[in-house]
Amino acid sequence: MSACILTVWTELGDGFLITMENVEKHFGKLHVLKNINLHIETGEKLVVIGPSGSGKSTLIRCINALEKPTSGSITVDGVEITARKAPINTVRQSVAMVFQSFNLYPHKTVLENLTLAPIKVQGVDRKKAEETGYAYLERVGLTEKAHSFPSQLSGGQQQRVAIARALNMHPKIILFDEPTSALDPEMIQEVLDVMVGLSKDNITMVVVTHEMGFARQVADRVIFMDDGEIVESGAPEHFFTNPSSDRTKLFLSKIL
Ligand code: ADP
Ligand code: MG
Repeated sequence: MSACILTVWTELGDGFLITMENVEKHFGKLHVLKNINLHIETGEKLVVIGPSGSGKSTLIRCINALEKPTSGSITVDGVEITARKAPINTVRQSVAMVFQSFNLYPHKTVLENLTLAPIKVQGVDRKKAEETGYAYLERVGLTEKAHSFPSQLSGGQQQRVAIARALNMHPKIILFDEPTSALDPEMIQEVLDVMVGLSKDNITMVVVTHEMGFARQVADRVIFMDDGEIVESGAPEHFFTNPSSDRTKLFLSKIL
């Protein structure tokens, strides 16, 4: 009987796709994440804001195990990735990341950038990977660039390719780390438009950004980080109109 209950409990888990509990991260003497407790639901769009150096990148890099917490536990899609011998590579296949600096492979064409990981890491056959690759390129409006190289594209186009590449892994979660921060102003909107389009899907999105218009439009929840802590968390309407913390108010007064 108890074994049966245990099985049911394990299968149901706690209902969250991502769970961070009591997460601490130190880089040497630097205490970068302080008692992070964060539960993210399937399909949730979470926006993370906060000043430079507050730990935003480290937080999201912990979710795909690019960083390992000093202590605490993180569970992603039912797998405790902080456990010893956790199948990190399996989990990484359901978590894609889009970086500020695009990180495309410079010597591969756009289409090859999209198909490389599905073929090599996920064992998808080339024809299928190209087929879905083309579909995602169409979605980001870049079908005609399939055989171009990254250097032949604008920054905004490169970032849209990076998003299509992430999607071609069919992830459950996409992490965005300031995806528009390296772009010239006239290119920011085209990338945000793609992200807004994506937000209508059931995919779970965790987005570090300073684009407050995007946050208002898309976020189910906004969290504000300062000095390694989650200082405030709430729905955008509460967050932007009536934040409770003075640290949040001060930050918003500087950027809005
Ligand atoms: P944010 O993304 O909010 O700007 P980060 O998570 O990148 O903040 O960094 C938080 C703090 O951790 C900063 O002080 C940064 O210098 C430091 N840091 C980040 N990565 C490393 C690292 N690999 N080694 C040492 N210190 C780091
Ligand atoms: Mg950062």
